[in-house]
Amino acid sequence: MFHVERYMDTRARASAPQAIEPASRTSVREVPRPKIIALANQKGGVGKTTTAINLAVGIALAGKRCLLVDLDPQANASSGLGIAIKRRGGSHFALISPDSTEQAIVPTMIDGLDILPSHPSLVQLERELQGTSDRERRLQMALIPVSTRYQYILIDCPPSLGLFPANAFLCCDSVLIPIQCEYYAMEGLAQILADVEKSKRMNSCLRVEGVLLTMFEPESVFAHEVADEVRTHLGELVYDSIVPRDVALAEAPSHGKAILQYAPRSRGARGYVELTRELLMRQNSNHLPEETKANDEA
Ligand code: ATP
Ligand code: MG
Repeated sequence: MFHVERYMDTRARASAPQAIEPASRTSVREVPRPKIIALANQKGGVGKTTTAINLAVGIALAGKRCLLVDLDPQANASSGLGIAIKRRGGSHFALISPDSTEQAIVPTMIDGLDILPSHPSLVQLERELQGTSDRERRLQMALIPVSTRYQYILIDCPPSLGLFPANAFLCCDSVLIPIQCEYYAMEGLAQILADVEKSKRMNSCLRVEGVLLTMFEPESVFAHEVADEVRTHLGELVYDSIVPRDVALAEAPSHGKAILQYAPRSRGARGYVELTRELLMRQNSNHLPEETKANDEA
């Protein structure tokens, strides 16, 4: 929170006229803004939802208030956290009317973590929104009423490059792209990187948070080769943390639990603890402007 606010303050100051700088600095500080991260990859089954759930839980356990937005009609992030998908509501209502967001948010079993659940009715809503002029700004509008309540907002996107990922890219700060450690790992990556680039026209602050290697099998020589190749191509964009393949990660959602609740000593849990640490560390240091880093150290 502390660092995110400062970051926002610095960004706002960069474009503020000098004469009114003191007033605008004060007002920007008074309006804390969450860090918004979208989990996206149009390729299916690469670990977007597993990462969204377990990273959100990790962030909340690190003491930061977090909202998980389920933007996928499959509603896997919702059911994976034990939220019953009984009737339309959640992100469906919030996308129709920002006045509904507050009521549509549901607390989870984890302290500090709330969720805006999904429902299969989002499929129909996506069709209905196609005819509206502000169709790509719906999520941005939906999050405004609740944004001061959270330090982090994670958005679990569906496996497409359709309207919902477009909504996420328009309002988020960065996109975390999980890819599976397999032969086709790089397939589609160029496409989503291009899509992020294209979305910068409407959201100039947007950047790639990183690429996350998932379902890694340490005993497989081939998996190591894939990981090496991805790192060779993408360099620092690739997170150091790697999520291993672990059956406990596949079992946990069927119990409506995150891995840290279901099997806290598993290697899958260790993978997500490492990822949470790395992400929070990158937020606090690597991607802050030099001036802000100096302030933090003072
Ligand atoms: P979709 O594109 O359909 O939304 P996704 O990218 O969100 O899929 P997940 O649902 O997170 O992917 O994962 C796909 C499947 O793989 C799920 O059954 C999940 O439980 C399992 N899974 C994810 N990560 C791991 C892992 N590290 N080890 C073992 N199983 C995993
Ligand atoms: Mg998913």
